[in-house]
Amino acid sequence: MKMSQRTIYYLDNNATTRVAPEVVEVMLPFLRDYWGNPSSVYTFGRQVARDVESAREKVAALVNAEPREILFTSCGTESNNSALHSALAAHPGKRHVLTTAVEHSANIKFCAALEKQGFEVTYLPVESDGGLDLHLLEKSIRPDTAIVSVMWANNETGVLFPIEEIAAICRSKAVPFHTDAVQTPGKLKIDVRDVGLDFLSLSAHKLHAPKGIGLLYVKRKTKYHPYVIGGSQERGRRGGTENVANIVGFGRASELALAHLAEENKRIRGLRDKLESGILHSIPGAVRNGAKEPRLPNTSNISFEGVEAEGLLLLLDELGICVSSGSACTSGSLDPSHVLMAMGCSVSRARGSVRFSLGIYNTEAEVDFVLKQLPAIIARLRSHSPKAKLVPERSVPA
Ligand SMILES: *Cc1c(COP(=O)(O)O)cnc(C)c1O
Repeated sequence: MKMSQRTIYYLDNNATTRVAPEVVEVMLPFLRDYWGNPSSVYTFGRQVARDVESAREKVAALVNAEPREILFTSCGTESNNSALHSALAAHPGKRHVLTTAVEHSANIKFCAALEKQGFEVTYLPVESDGGLDLHLLEKSIRPDTAIVSVMWANNETGVLFPIEEIAAICRSKAVPFHTDAVQTPGKLKIDVRDVGLDFLSLSAHKLHAPKGIGLLYVKRKTKYHPYVIGGSQERGRRGGTENVANIVGFGRASELALAHLAEENKRIRGLRDKLESGILHSIPGAVRNGAKEPRLPNTSNISFEGVEAEGLLLLLDELGICVSSGSACTSGSLDPSHVLMAMGCSVSRARGSVRFSLGIYNTEAEVDFVLKQLPAIIARLRSHSPKAKLVPERSVPA
């Protein structure tokens, strides 16, 4: 596909990220020259197997796991599905899953499919700031709960759940715990040993590596039942010939994320805060969705009263500004965000919400450009919208 080379202002890094040039560079030899099958017995294959294992060490270091606790998958979605599937298959007598109402569709829709198969799922509600009631979480764990699955950072609002405390509750009840940490690496330190969990999902394309590669961390002594069944790749835990170039790229992206974590985060947080406070101060009827803290340093979710996000996204697109309403995975459907609805937002507030998510390639000039353009665009949309004349909606406390 040919695209025009106009400037884009990419503020949608929770949807996907640019593949880092350093990552492309280490991948190319595996597409051009070293295309052997890592399972082959001859040297041309075995060499490639060694590079896969070296990448496994790098992604393991990103989360402080042992390399053999890392299982490569095709994406974050597969990792999430696999964790739930494994826990249910490992404990056939246990037919209950405990999760939250604000998970990514990779979890919510899998759970809905489980319910159709006769499993029981509890979707914990959240408070108006997006937080969880841990007392309720603890009370909702049942003797037949096979797994608790709670995301680390929300992809729409950036709100963080207290993963250490949830892991401790699960350990005290001897229930396996899974977290969807797809939005976390490169933004927060991840230490699976410190947290003490059983399963953790990551996706490479949220971390400046290509789409189509993810991982599932499975704690050493946790029982594992494969989801994708076939060859004996990944020590029999996930069939399918390894996506070698992507795995190697994921390894490099993990090294870069670890190396730049502290420094980049401070800068990105500064840009996000400038963008957010700039919008909230210059545009009347703009409100943040979700708690200010604890929150990812890169994400800001804002509702514009009397505005439909769909229209706003189109006008921003004309300027080359890329942002999302809801998550990229569910937008396109006209349903208001399930995350904002679970936080008790009105339908109109949810429909007027836009997610800005920054990344390592964003600059202050880009933030300034958005801050300069946005007030006039919002005013233009409001002048066309009958909703603008409605009584202002009471804002949900942050
Ligand atoms: C993007 C995302 C996923 C899905 O990852 P894919 O690799 O696109 O399947 C899952 N969970 C969260 C929180 C995400 O942001």
